[in-house]
Amino acid sequence: WEKRVRSSSRPKPHRSKPLIVLVTGAAGFVGSHVSAALKRRGDGVLGLDNFNHYYDVSLKRARQSLLNSQGVFIVEGDINDSSLLRKLFDVAAFTHILHLAAQAGVRYAMENPSSYIDSNVAGFVSLLEVCKSANPQPAIVWASSSSVYGLNTEVPFSESDRTDRPASLYAATKKAGEEIAHTYNHIYGLSITGLRFFTVYGPWGRPDMAYFFFTKDILQGKTIPIFEGPNHGTVARDFTYIDDIVKGCLGSLDTAEKSTGTGGKKRGPAQLRIFNLGNTSPVPVKDLVSILERLLKVKAKKTIIKMPRNGDVPFTHANISLAQRELGYKPTTDLQTGLKKFVKWYLGYYKDVEGKLAF
Ligand code: NAD
Repeated sequence: WEKRVRSSSRPKPHRSKPLIVLVTGAAGFVGSHVSAALKRRGDGVLGLDNFNHYYDVSLKRARQSLLNSQGVFIVEGDINDSSLLRKLFDVAAFTHILHLAAQAGVRYAMENPSSYIDSNVAGFVSLLEVCKSANPQPAIVWASSSSVYGLNTEVPFSESDRTDRPASLYAATKKAGEEIAHTYNHIYGLSITGLRFFTVYGPWGRPDMAYFFFTKDILQGKTIPIFEGPNHGTVARDFTYIDDIVKGCLGSLDTAEKSTGTGGKKRGPAQLRIFNLGNTSPVPVKDLVSILERLLKVKAKKTIIKMPRNGDVPFTHANISLAQRELGYKPTTDLQTGLKKFVKWYLGYYKDVEGKLAF
């Protein structure tokens, strides 16, 4: 989107009344893309991010600079800071909250479990508390995760499938978020939409995700691990391109109804929704590596490893018919096309002044 950002003329409002959106996690991968898209179509956007050190902060700062150049500003702060949240609500009458701030990643929970509770559970409650007291109350769209399907083996995953067997603390906190959303909807009439994203990838992506660090390791000649599921099973992911996820987020914001409570009092039933945002075509991780090898023109050194019980699940596959019907969500980018765009961005971003790759 950086090209579109640079060449953008005055954005046209997409409807008569623009949305006013607080995007939490705006310096993150998904948040930066959606913030830019909202601004492009003429909505009001304010970002919030604590710029934590889970991965390379300079990448978050680079996303922030690009957003700044388009007139999107990010306040540096934490969703647990309720007095800061209240100040933001005082200066802007947010019609919508797009809540993407979270501690992401499944393996990091082994080193730092409390960060998941702080951001994904306590932080979400802190945000909902402020939304509950706001007048008018904004509609909330937030990122849950495909990880809530946990140890389910029957695919594709549908929204009504069981979600009571999370395989990681990350998944458990996302599932907790869904229960918390139900409570705030039920008691306070908040309109809340949860989005279960399936392995999002693309330019400006997250360095902790496999497609990203495989690219780095292949270029550096390092051996990459290819995990094998139980009984020599294939490990596969329903990789979903960032532009498709952005469209799903915009569709969710546009179809979000108003909250029905005011100042903490419930006035009537409010909207409570949950959607899968995936690509409906899982790709084995070994095929992901083959595509990267072709795009990078480098043969990868690989080692097959039995999948450890570290929170990863062997297979994800989304049924997206509900999102198709309700949001008009229709992913259009296949993995080959999306990875080509990612690799182009990666090689440009990490090239130093002499044109060499500087990781
Ligand atoms: P990201 O880590 O790039 O973005 C999250 C941002 O939130 C980061 O910039 C981080 O600094 C910020 N943040 C974290 N805790 C915060 C806090 N307490 N207060 C303020 N800011 C905080 O991750 P992403 O890939 O952009 O993911 C966005 C959302 O989507 C997350 O909720 C994630 O759990 C969810 N999700 C992502 C994927 C994926 O494949 N990328 C899949 C499923 C769900």
